[in-house]
Amino acid sequence: MHTGEGTVEPRPAVVTVMGHVDHGKTSLLDSLRQTSVAAKEAGGITQHIGAFVVEMQSGASLTFLDTPGHAAFSAMRARGAAVTDIVVLVVAADDGVMPQTLEAMSHAKVANVPIVVAINKCDKSGADPERVRIQLGSEGLLLEDMGGDVQVVEISALSKLGLDKLEEALLLQAEIMDLKARTDGPAQAFVVEARVDRGRGPLATTIVKSGTLVSGQYIVVGSEWGRIRSLRDTAGKVTESAKPAMPVEIEGLRGLPMAGDDVVVVDSEERARMLSQGRKKKQEKDRLRKIDENMTEEAEIGEETPERVEMPIIVKADVQGSVQAVTDALRSLNSP
Ligand code: GDP
Repeated sequence: MHTGEGTVEPRPAVVTVMGHVDHGKTSLLDSLRQTSVAAKEAGGITQHIGAFVVEMQSGASLTFLDTPGHAAFSAMRARGAAVTDIVVLVVAADDGVMPQTLEAMSHAKVANVPIVVAINKCDKSGADPERVRIQLGSEGLLLEDMGGDVQVVEISALSKLGLDKLEEALLLQAEIMDLKARTDGPAQAFVVEARVDRGRGPLATTIVKSGTLVSGQYIVVGSEWGRIRSLRDTAGKVTESAKPAMPVEIEGLRGLPMAGDDVVVVDSEERARMLSQGRKKKQEKDRLRKIDENMTEEAEIGEETPERVEMPIIVKADVQGSVQAVTDALRSLNSP
C-alpha cells in the first residue's frame, strides 16, 4: 500500500525554512505562524508543535515545518524521512550569501528539493537585494530573473512585507511539482516533533505522507507503539483522521519517539508490540556495537594521546526536535 495504488489526489506542499544564522528564519516562521489556521482559530496564540498550516483565500494551503535549521533537515533525511517538498532559502539583504546559505543550497540539492529564495530584511537601509541575486547566481542557483526557474521574493519578516508574495511563490512552485498522494488505505507518516505532556503522556506531531491516519488505530512509531487515543490538528482541535501533508498530534503512545521516526499502521495490539520489541532489540544492538567500535578506536590511539577527561552532558529541551538539533551541534564541536 506504500506505492501509488488507490485513490491519488493533489496534496498541499510541505515547506522547510533554511538559511544562515541571524538571517531571519525564526522571525519568518513567527510571522507566517501568525497567519496560520491555528492562530486564526485560537486568537493568535499558537503552541509550538513542530508544524503549522497556512491557508490562502483560494482554499489552497501550505504546511510549514516549524524547526528552522539544517541539523533537523539532514537528520530527518538521514533516517529516510523525506517530508520536505520545498525549501525556503532565507538570505539577509544586508549580509548576503554566507557559509550556511551555501550549506542549505547543497542540502536542498542533495535531497533534490527545489528552492524558493526569500531575500529578507529588505526594510533595512543597508539592504541590497540585487547583490544577493548576483551572489546566488554566481553560486550556480538559476534564478528566475536570469532565465532559470528558481523564484526570488523580497521580504521583511519583521515588518511582514512580501509574505503574501512568498506564499504565492510557494503555491506556484507546488503547482509546478504537481504534488499528489494516495489518500485511502493505511497511512504512512513521519514524526516531526515529539514531547511528553504531564497530563496527556507522550505526544508526537506527525505529517502523513500517504493514506489516512485514523483515530483508534494501532501504530508503531520508530521503536515505540500505541493505540491512537486522539488526533489533534495544529489548532488543538480533536479530529477523527488525517490526510496527506496534514500535521496532527498523536496521543496514546507508550513511549517517546524521535523526530524522523516513521509511523506504521498495524492491525492488532500483538502485532504492534511485536514490531516495537523487534525494533527496540535492533536499536540496542546497534547502540552497543557503536560503543564497542568507539572503544576499540580509542584503545588503538590511546597510547600516544594524553588522558582525556570525560564530561557527560544531559540535553533537556521542550521538544525532541530541539534535543536532536542541540545534540548534533554538540557532537560536531571538536575542541580539545
Ligand atoms: P535566525 O537565526 O535565522 O532564526 O534569525 P532570527 O529570526 O533570529 O533573526 C535574527 C535577527 O534579525 C533578529 O534580531 C531579528 O529581529 C532580525 N530580523 C529578522 N528579520 C528581519 C527583517 O525583516 N528586518 C529587520 N530589520 N530585521 C530582521
